[in-house]
Amino acid sequence: MQIYWTRINRIISEAREIKTYMLDRPAGFTWEEGAHTHFALEGFNAGEKPDRSLIRHMSISTLPHENLIGITTRVRKQCSEFKTILSSLKAGDEVAIFKTHSNVPLKREDRNVYLLSSGVGLATFRPLVLEYFERAGNVNQVHSLNIDSSRDFIFTDIFGSAPDRQFTSQFVDNRKDYYEAMKKLTSDQNGLFYIVGSDEFLMHNIEVLRAAGIHPNQIMLDKHETAMSEFLSRDVSI
Ligand SMILES: Cc1cc2nc3c(=O)[nH]c(=O)nc-3n(C[C@H](O)[C@H](O)[C@H](O)COP(=O)(O)OP(=O)(O)OC[C@H]3O[C@@H](n4cnc5c(N)ncnc54)[C@H](O)[C@@H]3O)c2cc1C
Repeated sequence: MQIYWTRINRIISEAREIKTYMLDRPAGFTWEEGAHTHFALEGFNAGEKPDRSLIRHMSISTLPHENLIGITTRVRKQCSEFKTILSSLKAGDEVAIFKTHSNVPLKREDRNVYLLSSGVGLATFRPLVLEYFERAGNVNQVHSLNIDSSRDFIFTDIFGSAPDRQFTSQFVDNRKDYYEAMKKLTSDQNGLFYIVGSDEFLMHNIEVLRAAGIHPNQIMLDKHETAMSEFLSRDVSI
């Protein structure tokens, strides 16, 4: 396993409690849209075993051609040790990234793509939308639906509707509006539904999609294949 130590290039404030840490791109480091990485803080590998409290999974919210690795996260007032340390870091400080992989690249299957997310989950989809803008081949259209009850909507520059590019985007701030909007999307029985958010959010979304007749192979989650099939077969009730 290769560990890439790199530096924070700059920190962008996206919304009230949400920041993007832009990391320098180490030589030879590349990734696909939808990728997540292991984001680790200094000292995580100082002991015999890696210190998990200093490591988090994070999506990469940029594309390689932006030449910076974007990590977008929310830091609430009451937060974990990891987030406390992270929020004290500044441009020039060192962090590590390793084990980077995309479970949710943009599928080019001549279908409509629906991106369903909660809060900063939208970060996973930013590179998918940029990738689609650059090359729309074999993707009919893309629609994003994001819920954030604190109304801290992010990336509104990219996630504004662009009907001329077959891209539409909706932000909602409550569950009722979210599930109403989502149920409408399921009228497309051939669409591809990507979901990013907490496990509870994933389960509710899967249940609504399945009840509306969407097949599990039309549902994309940022999970490895084994975790994914276990997730899609869970019996859940809202
Ligand atoms: C594939 C994958 C991709 C991911 N991508 C992203 C991403 O791009 N961005 C992202 O932000 N996250 C992402 N996550 C989730 C991420 O790994 C973290 O789990 C998440 O950010 C929460 O971080 P945290 O555990 O440090 O908790 P925090 O966000 O600090 O806290 C979580 C909750 O617990 C409470 N809490 C925590 N510590 C305390 C305490 N000491 N006392 C009281 N309350 C406390 C907080 O108030 C909060 O409600 C991803 C996860 C996976 C699996």
